[in-house]
Amino acid sequence: MQYRNMPGSDEKLSALGFGCMRLASNGKGLLSSIDTEKATVQIRHAIDNGVNYLDTAYPYHNGASESFLGEYILKDGYREKVNIATKLPCFIINKQQKIEEIFNKQLEKLNVDFIDYYLLHSLDGHTWDKMVSLDIIPFMDRIKAEKRVHRMGFSFHGTYDAFIRIVDSYDWDFCQVQYNIIDENFQAGIRGINYAASKGLGVIVMEPLKGGILAGNIPKDIQEIYSSSKSNWSPAEWALRWVLDNPNVTMVLSGMNDDKHIAENLRIASESLPNSMKEHERKTISDVRNKYLELMEVGCTGCGYCMPCPVGINIPGAFKDLNNYKMFSKASAKLSHMAYTGIITDDGKSHWTKDCIDCGKCEKACPQGIEVRREFLKVQKHLEGPCVKGLARFARLFFKKH
Ligand code: SF4
Ligand code: SF4
Repeated sequence: MQYRNMPGSDEKLSALGFGCMRLASNGKGLLSSIDTEKATVQIRHAIDNGVNYLDTAYPYHNGASESFLGEYILKDGYREKVNIATKLPCFIINKQQKIEEIFNKQLEKLNVDFIDYYLLHSLDGHTWDKMVSLDIIPFMDRIKAEKRVHRMGFSFHGTYDAFIRIVDSYDWDFCQVQYNIIDENFQAGIRGINYAASKGLGVIVMEPLKGGILAGNIPKDIQEIYSSSKSNWSPAEWALRWVLDNPNVTMVLSGMNDDKHIAENLRIASESLPNSMKEHERKTISDVRNKYLELMEVGCTGCGYCMPCPVGINIPGAFKDLNNYKMFSKASAKLSHMAYTGIITDDGKSHWTKDCIDCGKCEKACPQGIEVRREFLKVQKHLEGPCVKGLARFARLFFKKH
């Protein structure tokens, strides 16, 4: 296994972390139905082969992921071999006392005295402001001082500007961001990664395969580009190698439940050193990215030059969802659009493309010459039907009450 240093320390993290969101399931259809026997063998096999980081969170597997780790994994000497990372579910917290309550519950479920890496889960600008108003900063200082948490960080799904603001608002040890060959400029993106690293934060990458999309049933044109390369790698290997090629990336997370994938990922993480990709391999990735952009409904690169929109529409986010709808899974594109347009936004309000006031500012700024307002009609047709909007309204009311 390859290890990378946490910035400013000699602490070494394995280049591959085990994501515990999609553990082996016993097939009974419930989210919480972890196949405990299979998942235990798989996780311990990964630890025995050098993985020293398990990433879980309060809601994973309907709350069963943390309990599973506490009950099955973090014993028999394995607690000492591995860092445990879990997350405070900021999106369901509206009262200060809930913070301590949930944190204590997590320690209990994991059956540990301290958490190695603790994250505020899924921050954006709005959630961060809410957590600050609930005195999260003194809380984080206190749990670190009490040594109940060793490293403090946050996972992020918001705009680049919000990311920079959050990085600058606390003395974080690390952050966790979405990054893959298509999302190079989405959310925090490469600019955010470089900024976090320049501030001494460890950078943990999630969604390197974009939820499996970049490794599964990929478009024929993309497969042809990969096949024409001298490097005979699977699409998953290309995607993981590209992330690990970045020297500012401390670790890549993979949610694993298949023996073959675990073996493949362990090998890739051992081999993929920073700056190890050859020029022709980087060119292949660039060709793949360009082909994906070509296949997309809208040629939006996610650069964000059109932002901010005066009425708060996430323009690159809307186009990303539209492209995902056309190229990949319609259902997950709708779900993502509903979540990040209708529920989890920087100011907590929905910002549908129909709210556009026709100022035209974005179109003047777009280097790709995209007719934003015309493309919005497709977003409205495919992603903003009454069902999506209604569900988003219901979810906002639900979160307000809890
Ligand atoms: S034209 Fe619409 S989407 Fe573009 S900046 Fe103005 S309000 Fe926002
Ligand atoms: S400026 Fe154009 S390419 Fe860049 S994010 Fe906005 S719409 Fe996309």
